Amino acid sequence: MRQPLSRELNNLLERGRDRQLRLAVTGLSQAGKTAFLTSLVNQLRHAGLEARLDLLPAAREGRLLGAKRLNQPDLGVPRFPYDPGMAALSDTPPRWPEPTRGISELRLELRFTPAQRGWFTPETAQLTLDLFDYPGEWLLDLPLLQHDFYSWCQAQRQHTGPHRRALFTEWLTAVERLEPDAEVDEATLASVAKMYAEGLKRAKQAGFSDLQPGRFLLPGELEDAPVLQFFPLPDLTKPREILEALPQESLYATLKARFRYYQQQVVRPFYRDHFRRFDRQIVLVDVLGALNAGPERFEDLSHALGQLMKSFDYGKRSLLTRLFAPKIDRLAIAATKADHVTPDQHANVVALLEALLAEPLKDLRYANVPVKAFSLAAIRATTAREVQEDGKRTPALRGTTLEGEEVLLYPGDVPSRLPGTDFWQRQGFDYPSFRPMHRESDALDHIRMDAALDWLIGDKLQ
Ligand code: GDP
Repeated sequence: MRQPLSRELNNLLERGRDRQLRLAVTGLSQAGKTAFLTSLVNQLRHAGLEARLDLLPAAREGRLLGAKRLNQPDLGVPRFPYDPGMAALSDTPPRWPEPTRGISELRLELRFTPAQRGWFTPETAQLTLDLFDYPGEWLLDLPLLQHDFYSWCQAQRQHTGPHRRALFTEWLTAVERLEPDAEVDEATLASVAKMYAEGLKRAKQAGFSDLQPGRFLLPGELEDAPVLQFFPLPDLTKPREILEALPQESLYATLKARFRYYQQQVVRPFYRDHFRRFDRQIVLVDVLGALNAGPERFEDLSHALGQLMKSFDYGKRSLLTRLFAPKIDRLAIAATKADHVTPDQHANVVALLEALLAEPLKDLRYANVPVKAFSLAAIRATTAREVQEDGKRTPALRGTTLEGEEVLLYPGDVPSRLPGTDFWQRQGFDYPSFRPMHRESDALDHIRMDAALDWLIGDKLQ
């Protein structure tokens, strides 16, 4: 009969085996994914040397011995561009790394000495860390899986804000002229789809985030493929049954077929082949950027995050669980670029992030997925100062703008709750984008990357 293994022996087996963790980083574009992953790799490579990682016990205790890059196992996934990113940051003047556009991967092997030494504990242990970075826009497509073409068209009608409509004028005018039952003309369809994609891109640039389909913004290898040539029909007046019975060559049936192909051949494979296999995940959010951009954009970010977080809704009846049975066992959400505000505001940044994600966080806690919120700066571009004003000491930030101007400023108070009309009327928040700082050491300066690292991998370095 088999005896249960003693705890000591179990530990030994566990230690002897190479441990492995798949950690994914996501966020809407401009959220700071590329900067985050570049910094994460940099911090781990310089752990025990110049990296400042006091909030990561394995590093603080001197047990983290270093990190080596290994060849990644998934040959079909591009490699995360760490070296080009570091080269940009070392340039004169330093530049931000070029953002990644699709999924990318990097494998690190971490060596550490186990915290508790017993009879059987080896001197050192390894953790293989597979890091992934993918656009949060792709997650906006999960809700699209619960629709058919007709209900998707209805759902897209909610975007009626004046600013947003203005960005789609060209497409709206063109689409109004189309009849769902007319025979499709491929050239027209391609050109109207292009207008739709351009509307989405304009909306993205204007700071809107709730944009579907996600691949229209970041098409990768699908650029110009017919699968990306569709769009919603905003003013369907005929009943569903009549539309569904239209012949295959009709505009409606063609758009419907493309929509379905997009669901089956583009959205599903990402969840099935990648998302489902991640162990841990960090979602980055540029809360401060949205606060800086104004109420319509802030509202839009809130809506987009609501959609995006559905990919982490593990409730038994959630769409995700039903379709893909994912296994993420720990989640972090982080407000990025915290170096844009003075340190006394950081607690408010976390509170605001939690307020923004209140609903999804409730669902996650209910589903018993451990989740923690942070504010951090992956690559710190400012230094905190104090200025004397009328005999009073007030906090301030010093940094260099992208244009090269040195500034000393107080960017404003961050509200700890969702901002109401009075906040926007006061316009109490304003800051420029900063250029990365010149570095004295090999390790990048950061704010609370070590706290995030501890939450994401700390338990595996025990
Ligand atoms: P991605 O599109 O999510 O990969 O975003 P990036 O990592 O490319 O970041 C977008 C921009 O945000 C960068 O070009 C920087 O201007 C800014 N940024 C990112 N991280 C930081 C940070 O830690 N501090 C500051 N000040 N700016 C940052």
